[in-house]
Amino acid sequence: MKNITIAIDGFSSTGKSTIAKQLANKLLYVYVDSGAMYRAVTLYAMQHNIISKDNFYVDKLISDLENINLLFKFNSSLGFAEMYLNNVNVEKEIRTLEVSNYVSKVAEVSEVRKKLVEQQQQMGINKGVVMDGRDIGTVVFPNAELKFFINASAEKRAQRRFDELIERGDKVTFKEILNNVQHRDHIDSTREDSPLINAEDAIEIDNSDMSLEEQFDLIYKIVLGKINII
Ligand code: C5P
Repeated sequence: MKNITIAIDGFSSTGKSTIAKQLANKLLYVYVDSGAMYRAVTLYAMQHNIISKDNFYVDKLISDLENINLLFKFNSSLGFAEMYLNNVNVEKEIRTLEVSNYVSKVAEVSEVRKKLVEQQQQMGINKGVVMDGRDIGTVVFPNAELKFFINASAEKRAQRRFDELIERGDKVTFKEILNNVQHRDHIDSTREDSPLINAEDAIEIDNSDMSLEEQFDLIYKIVLGKINII
């Protein structure tokens, strides 16, 4: 079977990474969670007092970019790659609500995007990759053979993220999560550089009322159809 590039974009907490991981495991492709990279840069900015509730020192972040080393390392017991920031595993820290509250501001910075997009393109150079994010089908891999745009209602998305965080033991309220999801959607889709938009050739899927199984069956059929005709 020929290796292809699969881009999965969409709003926050639509389950993009679940689909992408399932597909990558089934096809033996590399899975890249591009959001984890923006989250790790955000964590760096928080650790170095570059971003806080009151301040965001964009110039400092830009000049520090060369000190930010991001790496995905495959964890065979989990079945996916975890994010390392300057050689430290930050997979858990980057998923907190605090990081979620700042990440879209960091992701607006063009210099940050340039650095991360270059790394993402490098990771997909041999194809056989499933990457999820906001600009994968439009900016990172505009020539991807297959592009999906995933959506669901804000309430459904917030509920899924809320359940995930509660299960991890985080102390959050549903309202906080809903606000965060809506706020990030707004920043992500209105920013100047690489806004979240539905690529013209993307297949749009609303999974508000779909089970994980139904969604995977639908998407996997489309993928097989594509792989078999090229
Ligand atoms: O996918 P996830 O929700 O983890 O992404 C976190 C944030 O990173 C998004 O809300 C968005 O601001 C940013 N992001 C981005 N471009 C990507 C992936 C994520 O701007 N390709």
